[in-house]
Amino acid sequence: MYFCHEKADTQLINEQEVNREKQRQFDQRYLEMARIWAQNSYCQRRQVGALVVKEGMIISDGYNGTPSGFENVCEDENNITKTYVLHAEANAITKLARSNNNSEGATIYITASPCIECSKLIIQSGIRRVVYGEKYRLTDGIELLERAGIEVVYLGEE
Ligand SMILES: [Zn+2]
Repeated sequence: MYFCHEKADTQLINEQEVNREKQRQFDQRYLEMARIWAQNSYCQRRQVGALVVKEGMIISDGYNGTPSGFENVCEDENNITKTYVLHAEANAITKLARSNNNSEGATIYITASPCIECSKLIIQSGIRRVVYGEKYRLTDGIELLERAGIEVVYLGEE
C-alpha cells in the first residue's frame, strides 16, 4: 500500500519534470523563431522580433518598424530612432486587434527585454507569460510585468 503510493508520487514527479523540459524546449524554439522573425526589421540600430503563442499556435507576430504606410526607415538623419517606430511587441499585439483572435492567456516571445510602454500593453492584452532573450539596462518593464503577476522567463542565448 505504502509502496504503491510512493511509486505514484515518483511517477508524478517524473511527469512534471518531463513537462517542464518539454515547455523549456518549446520556449527555446519559439524564441529562436522570434529571432529569425526579427530579421524582417528594416531598423538599422536594433532588430527585435515577437511572437504571440496561444494553445500551441502562433496567433500573431511582429518586429520593430514604422506604422503601415510609412517609409521603411527607422532612423532619422542623425541615426536616432524615430519617435513613431513601433516596438515588436506593440506590433504583434496591435495586429491581434485587427484579427479575430485574442491574446487572453497567451505567451509572448520577445528577442529582447520589453520596455515599460510595451509591458503596459502586454498586461492589458491578457498575456500571462513573457519569455525574452536579451537583458536590457532598464528593468522597469520586467518589474511592472512581475507586479502584475505575469510569469516572466529569461532565456539567454546558448
Ligand atoms: Zn517596447
